Amino acid sequence: MRLIFLGPPGAGKGTQAKLLTERYGIPQLSTGDMLRAAVAQATEVGKRAKAVMDAGQLVSDEIVNEIVSDRIDAPDCAKGFILDGYPRTVPQAKALDRMLESKGLKLDAVIELKVDEAALVRRMENRVAETIAAGGTVRSDDNPEAFKRRLTEYREKTAPLSEYYAGTGQLKAVDGMADVDTVTAEIEKILA
Ligand code: AMP
Repeated sequence: MRLIFLGPPGAGKGTQAKLLTERYGIPQLSTGDMLRAAVAQATEVGKRAKAVMDAGQLVSDEIVNEIVSDRIDAPDCAKGFILDGYPRTVPQAKALDRMLESKGLKLDAVIELKVDEAALVRRMENRVAETIAAGGTVRSDDNPEAFKRRLTEYREKTAPLSEYYAGTGQLKAVDGMADVDTVTAEIEKILA
């Protein structure tokens, strides 16, 4: 099973991807998590990505294409994977098409979580409050200014992917405003 999750920041892609990893025994590949790990380890990629990420802007296609291509070659991706936060631009989607073709792999579905943008800022604020209450560390791009920038980036660069995948016949839309269990059930219906 090879899936892509599409949707703006805070739509619940990560939450749903995590639940599906347990159900299907395939890993969640979050480019955001991979980049944050690179920043934490101060690798070359991490050093190049940090300022861009903190500003809520997109890291270059070249960097993310390469980390995804390497990651899907790992043995735990043999049964499939869930891409969360990648592709994020039409050029990334085209690069992914070429990447999968060269590896002899095919996507099963692209699931778009549709959400109301006004609710996203509230979700981000709740996520920050919950993280602080649990004694965790808040993401450096989870502040109102960077979050708005991430939403703008989404609207301008990522939203056109819906049309791209509608064109390939792979796009499935789900109402991301419903509660977590309902969204999961809808996704499982699509995948059944
Ligand atoms: P996320 O955890 O998916 O919200 O990603 C956090 C940040 O990592 C984004 O705001 C971008 O700066 C960067 N990022 C993650 N995935 C990508 C991607 N596919 N293309 C470019 N930048 C990305």
